[in-house]
Amino acid sequence: MVVLIHEREKVLKKYHDASIAVYYGSDGTFNVTSSRYYWTGMMKFIFVYAKNCAECGKYRVENQKSSSFLQTHVYSQRFETLSIDLFGPLAGIKNHKKRIFIVEGCSTKRVELFALPNATVKGCV
Ligand SMILES: [Zn+2]
Repeated sequence: MVVLIHEREKVLKKYHDASIAVYYGSDGTFNVTSSRYYWTGMMKFIFVYAKNCAECGKYRVENQKSSSFLQTHVYSQRFETLSIDLFGPLAGIKNHKKRIFIVEGCSTKRVELFALPNATVKGCV
């Protein structure tokens, strides 16, 4: 079907802007619309239309952030960052200290273990 000038934008709204139209970009839109419609300069018209489309702009390759390698954190001093965990209660322990407070220095990987009677903030501190 040959599309008149004043109908072209309506065709693109249907095949490009509609929520069910998943053919982002000018190539996808051209492939879908050119199988049903024709007008002179159709490819250029669709290219300009998609170039000005904000939704297509989000997914354009040149607008994507480049991926980078995973960076390892560099610590400025030992014990700058600690990992802590609380383990227990341990079953079958006759001693009253049934919990183990675990502290690890993230930079040195040094682990300190503290036996605690209860899992309280005061005890951990
Ligand atoms: Zn678009």
